[in-house]
Amino acid sequence: MSDARIYEPSAEAGQRPALTSILRGFNCHCPSCGKGKLFYRFLKVADNCPECGEELHHHRADDAPPYFTIMVVGHIVVPMMLWLEVAYMPPIWVHVAIWPLLTLVLSLWFLPRLKGATVGWQWALRMDGFGAKADTQDI
Ligand SMILES: [Zn+2]
Repeated sequence: MSDARIYEPSAEAGQRPALTSILRGFNCHCPSCGKGKLFYRFLKVADNCPECGEELHHHRADDAPPYFTIMVVGHIVVPMMLWLEVAYMPPIWVHVAIWPLLTLVLSLWFLPRLKGATVGWQWALRMDGFGAKADTQDI
């Protein structure tokens, strides 16, 4: 017996726009209003949105943002590294100088954005406690 109703919003609560919520999260803003800051430190999600008061502490991003970050950064860095090697065959010190630094910079740039997108997606799907109450404002 399927219990697909778990991840669907209740009829009275209404739908939340997933793409908009994900993009707001990717921009490190509240998935509900798009104005308040999502993080109060580098990767610490604020308990409530400072603008609209939406409860954000319900998120359960866990290991998803690092997984997405590794996937995205890997798909950027590895092809570039292979292309450089095949096209120019530079000495090994060139690879050592470029790729670890680029990987670190890209990872630090993508990680909070992908965590924000994950939180936005969870909010849109009303996962965990995000669907406990009906929306009080237009989205
Ligand atoms: Zn907000």
